Amino acid sequence: MEPIVGIDLGTTNSEVAFIIDGNAQILKGLSSSIGDKSDKGILPSCVGIDDDGKIIVGTEARNQAAVHPDRTVLSVKRLMGTDQQIKMKDSAYLPQEISAFILKALKEQAQVALGKPVSKAVITVPAYFTDAQRHATRAAGEIAGLNVLRIINEPTAAALAYESESSETQRILIYDLGGGTFDVSIVKIEEGVVEVLSSTGDNLLGGDDFDQRIADRLVEHIDKESKINVSGQPVAMARLKRAAEDAKKILSSEPYAKIEEDHIGKRVWKDVHLSYELSRLEFEGMIEDELERTMDSVNKALKDAALLPSAVDKIILVGGSTRIPRISKMLEEKFGRMPHSEIDPDLCVALGAAIQAGREMGLDSTSILLDITPYTFGTSALGELDGAPCMTRFVPLIRRNTKLPTSKSEAFYTLYENQEMVEIKVCQGENPNALDNIQIGKYKFRLTPRSPEGSIILLNFDLDLNGILKIEAVEKATGRKINAVIENAFSKLTEEEMADSKKRISDMWGEEPQMEEEMEDLEEEMPPDLADALTKAESQLDSASSEDRDEMINLMEDIRDAVKAGDIEKARELLKELEEILFYLG
Ligand code: AMP
Repeated sequence: MEPIVGIDLGTTNSEVAFIIDGNAQILKGLSSSIGDKSDKGILPSCVGIDDDGKIIVGTEARNQAAVHPDRTVLSVKRLMGTDQQIKMKDSAYLPQEISAFILKALKEQAQVALGKPVSKAVITVPAYFTDAQRHATRAAGEIAGLNVLRIINEPTAAALAYESESSETQRILIYDLGGGTFDVSIVKIEEGVVEVLSSTGDNLLGGDDFDQRIADRLVEHIDKESKINVSGQPVAMARLKRAAEDAKKILSSEPYAKIEEDHIGKRVWKDVHLSYELSRLEFEGMIEDELERTMDSVNKALKDAALLPSAVDKIILVGGSTRIPRISKMLEEKFGRMPHSEIDPDLCVALGAAIQAGREMGLDSTSILLDITPYTFGTSALGELDGAPCMTRFVPLIRRNTKLPTSKSEAFYTLYENQEMVEIKVCQGENPNALDNIQIGKYKFRLTPRSPEGSIILLNFDLDLNGILKIEAVEKATGRKINAVIENAFSKLTEEEMADSKKRISDMWGEEPQMEEEMEDLEEEMPPDLADALTKAESQLDSASSEDRDEMINLMEDIRDAVKAGDIEKARELLKELEEILFYLG
């Protein structure tokens, strides 16, 4: 059966997981070229171009971010759903193209770990992601050569990771604070059925902001001590942000963190060095307002689910930033119980995505997943607002917290005789005035000539399981479906643009490692002694240091390439180098 993997496409880090022997497991990469240097299988969501003009993803890209901010992209998830062009060296990319590089790396990571081609995935997104952001995520998958079977909300995935097998009814609050997004959701799990009761959050709040606050403090400190302002210097700022993040992490387990950055600037002819001691207390003070904001969302989620804090059975922490001790304390004060973080908060979402992917493969049909829309979708029409006529009255069609998939229709009327056109605006939000909501689409419908005043136009909104909205309008009198002209499709690409994007990204990525059939052919040509040595080396990869591991992987790839090119002599020479490393490993 073709594998379907679960992917957590995070702001800071991404992971890919799969069900192996009935358990969700993170797939660790073996190839250094994809930049996964972490033992946990975490791939930093960073994309860059190296000195040779080659695309790099993961740790390698992250490591160059401080020195080459101009050709490295961090936190692209925050730009998903926008048309913003992201500059990397001499070219510009769309957010979904940058994300596609990350997905390509994860795809390779999965292929290497499973030894099979991988072309299908379930991808998670923050519950708060808009329609445009979900579209962009799906497009990123397609550009990367992945068929995205389903997009599920991150908190739902986390709940699945914790409770997919529980038979008791439980109400679980998931507090997910990552690098760039915050989500809080309440789900009910009953006999394996997951139902999202409420979901809210802020897709512009996360650990990156905390790093920025520390970095700002450091800039102030440097200015005060040395009378230079480094805020306009990208390299210095990237270094400060990196140092800030390191300090923040230290403060999760220690009360003080020392920040030292030599040669951070120059004043006249003298080098300026930074030395600053940050206390946990000072750090907590800096981010108190942001943490308060997350608690406001917690209260909103409780209110939406019509639950008192005492009715919540369990609180789950998800996302790297929940390691900040103040967060557990705040939640404990509110709920009178300690939150859970037994499943690694960094991996929880990917593991849940793998459980859902397993279900898509038919591995477990006992549980189903109910999801909701965190937004109200509607249109704008003539109506009343505060007792006065309003041309832009918001008319909700699909209400917030409706279970997905859902389909809703509403009738609208033409305003005058011979009306030639109706303009249908599609908005998402909760405000009674459509102008205050987010407009996600604008469609123009040309009407049949000489229609009377009050002709009926039926508008249908269809929101699928992935939160993707389809709109259809029908002229009731004629039954004619009206062709929609999308005037501002935001970041949705046309098929042609998609194909161009896919080709461009693939060309830049280069060849993917060959899988299955090709691998088998290769094995046949491989002389037995070389094949044995490669198998032995593979089995020792886990016990090697990350440096040795990288070198071993490179040598193994080179040996395979040499055999493929028919150069057995070169392969044997390379084997000697590999055997030397194996000898030292014992
Ligand atoms: P995620 O988006 O879930 O991968 O979370 C990544 C965020 O978690 C980044 O902002 C990290 O700096 C942050 N993070 C990771 N470990 C810690 C830690 N020990 N203490 C505080 N924040 C952390």
